[in-house]
Amino acid sequence: MKQKTVLVTGASRGIGREIAKLFAKNGYQVAVNYCLSQEQAESCVDEIQQQGGTAMMIGADVSNRLEVHNMIKQVYQSFGTIDILVNNAGIAQQKLFTDLSEQDWINMFDINVKGVFEVTQAVLPPMIRQQQGNIVNISSMWGVTGASCEVHYSAAKAAVIGFTKALAKEVGPSHINVNCVAPGVIQTQMNDLLSQQTIQTLKEETPLGRIGTPKDIAELVLFLASEKASFLTGQIITADGGMTI
Ligand code: NAP
Repeated sequence: MKQKTVLVTGASRGIGREIAKLFAKNGYQVAVNYCLSQEQAESCVDEIQQQGGTAMMIGADVSNRLEVHNMIKQVYQSFGTIDILVNNAGIAQQKLFTDLSEQDWINMFDINVKGVFEVTQAVLPPMIRQQQGNIVNISSMWGVTGASCEVHYSAAKAAVIGFTKALAKEVGPSHINVNCVAPGVIQTQMNDLLSQQTIQTLKEETPLGRIGTPKDIAELVLFLASEKASFLTGQIITADGGMTI
């Protein structure tokens, strides 16, 4: 059977890196996108190749239309196809709403929302021509419930949820599935600023008694991109240990 290709945005670190490694382990060719962390993207590709997998790395800021266009071109040149897109790249910021600058707002929406728009729009036409494809967007539980001191992040992640549902309706007739994972608190650099005490409180507030790991999210994304989930589209799956139920 022909090897499938997955493009994972923001795969140099954290959740995206784990997604890239898990897809590689499961026989996919992996395109590892990064923006600033070139060395970490290199080590992700090295790790995959050392385990016998196939991967390439491509630097691109997902919010930059030209860089995204060039990235997609490179993936096509190397792998010939993109079967699965994981829109994972994202930034977070904690600030009182009244302290947010216009630039804070713009950065948040540029990367977390415009980035999803740019990469998806670049990848979709060939998927529509092939009448197959799978897109998984990474939102956040805060996009579902809203978080204090993260109004811009919550609003951006809510936009990803609306994007997912609308696009799923539009491209369903082309046999393209579009789903979304809304993670809870996951142990990555994004949460480095949280104190040990805050982490402890978060664990206590979570029915499953722990915060999540990148692997928790990667396994779910792998499932959503697989044949096993072929009748799922437009779904928002919250993976938060029960924190928001
Ligand atoms: P992370 O460890 O901070 O990693 C973020 C990744 O996004 C990095 O690989 C980074 O690449 C990439 N990135 C940032 N800006 C980019 C841009 N303009 N273009 C391309 N890539 C860019 O964060 P994470 O925790 O793994 O988060 C991954 C996703 O999960 C995000 O969408 C985040 O909002 C979501 N999420 C995380 C949590 C959590 O608790 N960790 C919870 C809910 C949702 P470079 O380093 O190469 O720039």
